[in-house]
Amino acid sequence: MSLSFDPNTVVLPQGHFIDGRMIAAKGALAMQRPSDGVAFADCPIADADLVDQAVQAGKRALKESGWADIRPRERVRLMHRWADLIEAEAETLARLEAVSSTRPVGQLIQGDIAITSEQIRFFAEFADKDGSDLVPTSRDSLGMIMTEPYGVVGAITPWNFPLSMAGWKLAPALAAGNAVVLKPSELTPFSTVYIAELSVRAGIPAGLINIVLGDGQTTGTAITGHPEIGKISFTGSTAAGMAIMENIARTGIKPMTLELGGKSPQLVFADADIARTAKAVAQGILSNAGQACVAGSRLIVAHAIALPLVDAITAIMADICPGPTWNEATQYSPIISERQINRIDSIVKASVAAGGECLAGGRMLDRGGYFYAPTLIGGVTASSPAITQEIFGPVLTIQTFVEEEEALALADHPTYGLAAGVFTADLSRAIRVTKTLQAGTIWVNRYGRSRDHILPTGGYKSSGIGKDLGREAYLANRKSKSVLIDL
Ligand code: NAD
Repeated sequence: MSLSFDPNTVVLPQGHFIDGRMIAAKGALAMQRPSDGVAFADCPIADADLVDQAVQAGKRALKESGWADIRPRERVRLMHRWADLIEAEAETLARLEAVSSTRPVGQLIQGDIAITSEQIRFFAEFADKDGSDLVPTSRDSLGMIMTEPYGVVGAITPWNFPLSMAGWKLAPALAAGNAVVLKPSELTPFSTVYIAELSVRAGIPAGLINIVLGDGQTTGTAITGHPEIGKISFTGSTAAGMAIMENIARTGIKPMTLELGGKSPQLVFADADIARTAKAVAQGILSNAGQACVAGSRLIVAHAIALPLVDAITAIMADICPGPTWNEATQYSPIISERQINRIDSIVKASVAAGGECLAGGRMLDRGGYFYAPTLIGGVTASSPAITQEIFGPVLTIQTFVEEEEALALADHPTYGLAAGVFTADLSRAIRVTKTLQAGTIWVNRYGRSRDHILPTGGYKSSGIGKDLGREAYLANRKSKSVLIDL
């Protein structure tokens, strides 16, 4: 059966989801479909009162359900049921997601949705396996580190992978015994509302997951500044991360996890397998049309193999097949909005004006919606806008090196340190280079995440603070208390 669908037939959830119920709200922000530019919905904006209503619902649900104190295996069981329901509703979810986002429906079913349900199962299993520690103290005392949930966690997610980003936040927070107030991006809120509804259908107590819709300025600020929210977990741009830190500093200290932007290098040494590397490098920048935090946007390649590698990447780029997100066959995504495609184009033009040479693409595609051609820019220097700025589009810069040291110097970005790729047949070099690279994730002879949720993700430098995924993300949703008992 085909997964392709007519975007005009999708029924969207209307409003916020608080205390287990939809709260109808009038739209305030016009939304356009990235695939064809058609205005199709409005996103409401939750004000500070509504955010407070969501926080109080979370507190009440925690108290009435005893979520943090019930037998942990019960939390595990309910979260597994939630994951099962997400899989059972995969087609509905895929349509909700594909209509407003850049994620093609085929990739959603095989990728984002399957990953989200597995993440929920992965984090659920921590609930009854990760506990407090007895620690060595003197013989006449007993020392313990007890951990406990924060209460209500505030979460804010971006638009680029709406479902998996919601999974990154909701699953560890819930497994760790918290309630959550989550604001999805105003560009892609619907699938998040729907999985929250599914959580209640799965038996997770109403009020534990509350979704408030709105923009960063009103709704986001109300969340990060709310005095009864115990912790903030944010994924988005470095600029918004800085604004959030400022608001938290102004309104009352609370811990935060910040997963921010990147400008990740892909280092290719002369002994790398060219065909295999070209595929991985191209995938690293073309996945979601470069709209990934970990997009490998800077190719740093040994001079000796630069020509054949760039030729091979260019051939892959020429082969891409753009299409609307509601066609099952679509592999190459649109850009999220008119504003964003104009920004990509202006950074490309500024980089060429600064001396760069456009070797492929460098233009919008002439078809409905917002599609940008895969772009290669050579001849760039450290001050080129294409090097200094996170473009968040399908734009790959090319820089060459002769010595390993030169490659490492080029890779070291003054602002970002999210991820990096290393391609080489020499294991010693791979390890040496990995030890030097300043990034939170290093991929060797591959580029991109696997489904090993145990590997945490997070940035160095201005790419962030703290980790999502892995045991770290579970622990980041619990605070610790040191206890010393005299015997
Ligand atoms: P964005 O920063 O514009 O928005 C992200 C979210 O933050 C949205 O929900 C937005 O409404 C909200 N927001 C904006 N300003 C805010 C404020 N002052 N206070 C509170 N909330 C605020 O980012 P985006 O355009 O949605 O997403 C793209 C960015 O996200 C890129 O920079 C990308 O690298 C980053 N990202 C990072 C990761 C990671 O794991 N490091 C993952 C995905 C995306």
